[in-house]
Amino acid sequence: MAPVADQLSNVLSDIRKAEAEYGRPEGAVTLIAVSKTFEADAIRPALEAGHRVFGENRVQEAMGKWPELRGSYDGIELHLIGPLQSNKAKEAVATFDVIHTVDRQKIAKALKAEMDKQGRDLPCFIQVNTGEEPQKAGIPPKEVDQFVKECKDTVGLNIVGLMCIPPVDEAPGEHFALLQKIAARNGLSQISMGMSSDYETAVGFGATHVRVGSAIFGSRDYA
Ligand SMILES: *Cc1c(COP(=O)(O)O)cnc(C)c1O
Repeated sequence: MAPVADQLSNVLSDIRKAEAEYGRPEGAVTLIAVSKTFEADAIRPALEAGHRVFGENRVQEAMGKWPELRGSYDGIELHLIGPLQSNKAKEAVATFDVIHTVDRQKIAKALKAEMDKQGRDLPCFIQVNTGEEPQKAGIPPKEVDQFVKECKDTVGLNIVGLMCIPPVDEAPGEHFALLQKIAARNGLSQISMGMSSDYETAVGFGATHVRVGSAIFGSRDYA
């Protein structure tokens, strides 16, 4: 595996090429560098290279490394891309800048209450279970319109877009297309989709945020 800075630069140039290829404006897509399981020292090269947008999937893990990194680098934007329990809403709101995984009313309400308490107003994405997989988090496609309304009008969350993780064993394109369609009919401008194996495809289907981990930091060791 090449050094992290080289991998990062390769992914960024792939994204710019995909933007051009698919007729997207240059810079339309934000790269979220997914640093889960990697320690602060492994993340620093990406920060040194000037990257500032990162994703983590666990609140506890993020709390352990990002306060220190924020102390050393200005302008960090941290995205929560993993499942959230309502008893972690306080820490999530304090630690992250954007939440991608709002998937039930209880979480929406807990986040809103914490944001009010902490005087923050974080942009939020709703996670959509495009493949309707029973084991996977997310709102089923046909319930999204209603849930978006509830989150915005009843709960008062700042919903900016939709997020999905397609089934591993299916071509991602149809899931990306579905998410793009649901976002459009709900007037949501931001779309979080595409990972190491399919971020260029996601750019073609209108992603505004791609979440790329292993292609930048290497394969993960969960041991
Ligand atoms: C880990 C993770 C990613 C990044 O996955 P890679 O295949 O390593 O790029 C993206 N999105 C979510 C929700 C993740 O948990």
